[in-house]
Amino acid sequence: MNTEDLLARVGHSQEETEFYTPLPAGYRHGHHKYVVVVGTVMSGLGKGIFSSSMAKLLQDKGLRVAPIKMEGYYNIDSGTLNPYRHGEVFVLDDGIETDMDLGTYERLLDQDLTRANFTTNGQIHAAVLKKEREGGYLGRDVQFNPHVTGEVKMRLRELAVKSKADVVFVEVGGTVGDYENTAYLEACRQLAFEEGEGSVVFVALTYVLEPGALGEQKSKAAQLGIKRMLEMGIQPHMIACRANNPVNEKVRQKISMYCNVPMRRVVSMHDVSSIYLIPESLREAGIDREVLTLLNLHDRVDQRAEDQARRKWSWFVDRIGKARKEITIAVTGKYVALRDAYASIIKAVEHCGIHHGVDVKLKWIDTTLIGAHNVENELSDCHGIIVPGGFGSRGVEGKIDCIRHAREKKIPYLGLCLGFQMAVIEYARNVCNIPEANSSEFAPAGKHSVIDILPEQKKIEGLGGNMRLGGKDIAVTPGTLAAKIFNGATQIRLRFRHRYEVDPQIIGTLEKHGMVFSGRHPRQPIMQILELPESVHPFFMGTQAHPELSSRPLRPQPMFMALVAASMDYARDHGKEHGKSHGGHHKQTAAV
Ligand code: GLN
Repeated sequence: MNTEDLLARVGHSQEETEFYTPLPAGYRHGHHKYVVVVGTVMSGLGKGIFSSSMAKLLQDKGLRVAPIKMEGYYNIDSGTLNPYRHGEVFVLDDGIETDMDLGTYERLLDQDLTRANFTTNGQIHAAVLKKEREGGYLGRDVQFNPHVTGEVKMRLRELAVKSKADVVFVEVGGTVGDYENTAYLEACRQLAFEEGEGSVVFVALTYVLEPGALGEQKSKAAQLGIKRMLEMGIQPHMIACRANNPVNEKVRQKISMYCNVPMRRVVSMHDVSSIYLIPESLREAGIDREVLTLLNLHDRVDQRAEDQARRKWSWFVDRIGKARKEITIAVTGKYVALRDAYASIIKAVEHCGIHHGVDVKLKWIDTTLIGAHNVENELSDCHGIIVPGGFGSRGVEGKIDCIRHAREKKIPYLGLCLGFQMAVIEYARNVCNIPEANSSEFAPAGKHSVIDILPEQKKIEGLGGNMRLGGKDIAVTPGTLAAKIFNGATQIRLRFRHRYEVDPQIIGTLEKHGMVFSGRHPRQPIMQILELPESVHPFFMGTQAHPELSSRPLRPQPMFMALVAASMDYARDHGKEHGKSHGGHHKQTAAV
């Protein structure tokens, strides 16, 4: 279908039209369907978790799904956002820096996403202004409606074509009523009109209050929130009610009546012990069938695929919370807002704990408070140590003390990006006898920058002075620990986000003193994985990459699997293994 046909459908011709509806080549009207998830009442309800769980239910049935997160901010991507305010920057394989919710989608759908799955107001407006300068609007005055909204619709349809999606899941950032997401909501309203009945489903995610003083659930805020959607011309087809406890019948009835949504489509999405239980609880609430009916998709379902997918998923879910053992892994990160700033690390460790049948507690260490005098004491209850990625010099000396302790006391160690660089510095200083070894990030005028910015290295990959971003191939040296944990693979792929790297001039010295670089750029002397031989240390590994970004529930990341296994051995051998004293997980509510 082309734009003209589409306009004809709604009774308009292309000349002198008020419509602006460019369609991407290859668009199959009626084939691509959309589910739009909108938050009401408040943000932070877990829209991403909800939307990805719903997408997973349809994916399990053999349908092709493509999620997209639409952010209200004007940054072009998330690269410049402070992770302590906005959560971690999640880098996709194609190198775009996105919001942490993209991580939730990748993990739940076990699908690699691209820049087409993420947009911001900044991207939308930049595209409109660029087109205007190029004379792309044929003399028209460029307006919010139809041009900005037209650009949004274009993005959604382009994603549909590119991903060949049966269903595009649109997560509109923020909450209905925010000025920031008005363009998205208005565009989705228009999309539903243009695509016609049975093509777009709107889901309102709302919140049911249960004030402690009243001891009962109240629906008013939810009703008013949804009223805002109705004011914008959007009738939700389905309402998911977030709440601490299962939402009772009376409250659901009130919401149903007030918002014109039948009871079977007003479902409770109360807190559960793990986000991985949400797909099944939505299935039990019948949401998957309702979506199929609304979008007329029942005949695209592959029952056998669904049985198989559900069998695999239940294997994983059944193990959650059943661990009999408990270990503690230290993570050197600032305590404030850690859950979001280190979301992927937390998730990777959780996946591996579930696979190994162990509950892994994370102990957060603020390294600004660590020094040689207290490192032993601080880490005495830990069975493994992670030094995660980071920027800036805050707490780096404390990190080096932690790494030295891990190396000398043979405590399992995994260094991620900055943690890899710090392991190189620690080794250069304390083993190779280069006391001034440092990174030019922290000591720009230092004498021995064993970690440096090296623009000539970047040029090799065409990066200039910029950050090295996205998925890159790594050649793994046969016979090493890395080769073992990656099952003998000689080439693997991980995601990167760094500016500094190991100075090739120091490699020989480090190797002479026993450090092994087991992962390298396939052709250049760019170091990507380091380790100590197993004869010297049970598990000491660092990587310039961010392996935490590619861990998935059913495909836990091998480096994290090896760290957790080694930490379990350490706990056993040092008589520090804990049986689990108290059962049950804490309830988890927000988007992780
Ligand atoms: N700050 C270091 C660099 O830019 C490490 C980056 C990171 O840990 N993501 O190279």
